[in-house]
Amino acid sequence: MPDAFLLTLGCPKNVADSDAFAGCLTGAGWRIARSLENTDLLLINTCAFIKPAVDESLEVIGEALEWKNERPGRILILAGCLPGRYPVDGSGGLEGFDLIIGPGDTSGLEEYLSLKSASTPEPAGGRISRYLKISEGCSNNCSYCTIPLIRGARRDRSPGEILMDAEHLAEQGAVEIGIVGQDTASWKYDGDSISWLMSQLAGTYPDIWFRLYYVHPAFYPGDFLPLLAEHENIMPYIDMPVQHVSDRILKRMGRPYTGDHLRKLFDMFENSEKMLSVRTTMIVGYPGETEEDFSELIQFLSQYRCIRTIAAFPYWPEEGTREFDIHSPEDIPDSSTVQSRLARIGDAADEHNILWAERLEGDTMDILADTPLLGHSRLDAPEVDGACCFDRSVEPGRIIRCRITGGAGSDLTAEVLK
Ligand code: SF4
Repeated sequence: MPDAFLLTLGCPKNVADSDAFAGCLTGAGWRIARSLENTDLLLINTCAFIKPAVDESLEVIGEALEWKNERPGRILILAGCLPGRYPVDGSGGLEGFDLIIGPGDTSGLEEYLSLKSASTPEPAGGRISRYLKISEGCSNNCSYCTIPLIRGARRDRSPGEILMDAEHLAEQGAVEIGIVGQDTASWKYDGDSISWLMSQLAGTYPDIWFRLYYVHPAFYPGDFLPLLAEHENIMPYIDMPVQHVSDRILKRMGRPYTGDHLRKLFDMFENSEKMLSVRTTMIVGYPGETEEDFSELIQFLSQYRCIRTIAAFPYWPEEGTREFDIHSPEDIPDSSTVQSRLARIGDAADEHNILWAERLEGDTMDILADTPLLGHSRLDAPEVDGACCFDRSVEPGRIIRCRITGGAGSDLTAEVLK
């Protein structure tokens, strides 16, 4: 059986696509390898959301073309947002690729691999934490974002398709399933909402942890918190990209909510009976961002202890977006201002890490072991948030009862109890 290697760049949404690509490959008789060594096929699932992601993809592509040229017969496939954003026909310096397909284009891959029928997603490398995509594309058209251009308007998958995928993931041994999509909170099908869907999944698979990602603040489902009381296996975790809190900037971003709306939501998270952990992302140095706007953002971050993870990105003017067309270069804060603002956000994130470690120290909690010495708690998403370091070796894939002994940066340390 020949070996194939999948390289995934970007976020968990891309990992879900890679799982589907892995299914096509295994269905066609390929074995998914854990490293590129001795493989005959390399599929690169690229990200092109912002310029640094494009640069990373291009760098990897250069190395991949070298890999292909080292031995005749090697197959190189380019997939994902990069070809989705910059359609390529093999004449633009990418002649070395055997196949170029857009985001999630499993039928293009199947066709290439001469598959007759759709195949079942298989784990890419036997991961314990998996991702399930409930929709494709986004209809929000935020002023700065290329995703609607790359992936099109939002199309929600049916509950039948989603539950079937969940069944496959459960059969493959998933212990945690992350629910992903560009705008998960807006998912709707025949009048059913995202909370209904989460409830169905959690009720059908009570032993699997479910975690909801990418909740747009404007569409936050009001019945989400009560769900946490009903289903212990829905993680007390909210991934909500606020992007900014200044009304002026939010309006310019095309985000249909205000700072007050965010404060109401975060007051509710903060005062929730169940301890909640919030991950949030924001853009720094957006065109027109003044010191006053930025101070409001920092004040917001310092105000809410429920914020566990903060990720900040500098603004990048992206061709094809509304903001690209309207801004003038002087609207963008200079790079030293942006760097100093990012550093101040880093300081705020450090303070949150210290506060959370103090708050959790001495608590007993379940940690899902990702490796013998590292896991993640119910309050932290795998791969993107802090990890938990065990004081002794455990079996990966098991949920381990631990006592939290402290923290180091965004990570926690834990004593294994059983
Ligand atoms: S919600 Fe806005 S930022 Fe997020 S994917 Fe959609 S358009 Fe882009």
